[in-house]
Amino acid sequence: APLVSIRRVSKQFANGTIAVRDVDLDLGAGEFVSLLGPSGCGKSTLLRMIAGLGSPSTGTIDWPGAGEDKAGRDLGFVFQDPTLMPWANALSNVMLPLVLKHVPKREAEERAAQMLALVGLKGFEKSYPRELSGGMKMRVSIARALVMRPKILLMDEPFAALDEITRHRLNDDLLNLWWRERFTAVFVTHSVFESVYLSQRIVVMAARPGRVMADLDVSAPYPRD
Ligand code: ADP
Ligand code: ADP
Repeated sequence: APLVSIRRVSKQFANGTIAVRDVDLDLGAGEFVSLLGPSGCGKSTLLRMIAGLGSPSTGTIDWPGAGEDKAGRDLGFVFQDPTLMPWANALSNVMLPLVLKHVPKREAEERAAQMLALVGLKGFEKSYPRELSGGMKMRVSIARALVMRPKILLMDEPFAALDEITRHRLNDDLLNLWWRERFTAVFVTHSVFESVYLSQRIVVMAARPGRVMADLDVSAPYPRD
């Protein structure tokens, strides 16, 4: 069964804007999918509905692959703005979801430190957001989104505000992280390059706003090293 099953989903906002129209989409466990399209075509709205941030006007979003366990739905969300707590160091920022779930402090610290190491920030546990570069703050944000080990990581143009070199490094490291951990990744972008570089599958939203125009298999015919 797919992890997420989207059936005939549309979204009309209170002001009359129809942001998403009649979308059918299955997300398989372990896939890396890009949602590609120009600004305003409804990518964010669709991603947010998958996250449960706003419900569809019509249609359904089900989680058949998550099992009966509601915790199995757990997801991580990464926004374009890393939205870190400025008064807390990197470790405390990553610990937040664990603390909210009442994971004991010692264990939370260990898991957060492991996650920081996985995103390449070993040694920066005590650094405050203001001491970190944009790319490093984004790494902290990704670590925080993954620290609960969610089945799915939803990312809304996470690297769009970063310079090109930082962006390439983050693309590489995200890909390696996914390769190792095998969560389902859904990556919203308006960059064709980024979508081809990162994903196995590209869902194109465009032209007639809110619709899925194409669903492309772009998996490489060779394993990545
Ligand atoms: P992006 O191109 O990065 O997705 P947008 O300008 O489309 O940025 O949207 C940024 C944020 O503003 C989103 O959270 C979106 O939901 C919200 N937003 C966009 N358009 C409107 C609108 N017409 N009214 C209210 N909120 C909006
Ligand atoms: P994208 O992520 O592809 O840039 P969005 O999903 O942010 O597109 O927006 C799709 C359309 O819905 C745009 O026309 C946007 O202005 C509009 N929109 C987004 N959020 C809102 C909102 N909260 N209220 C009204 N219109 C919105």
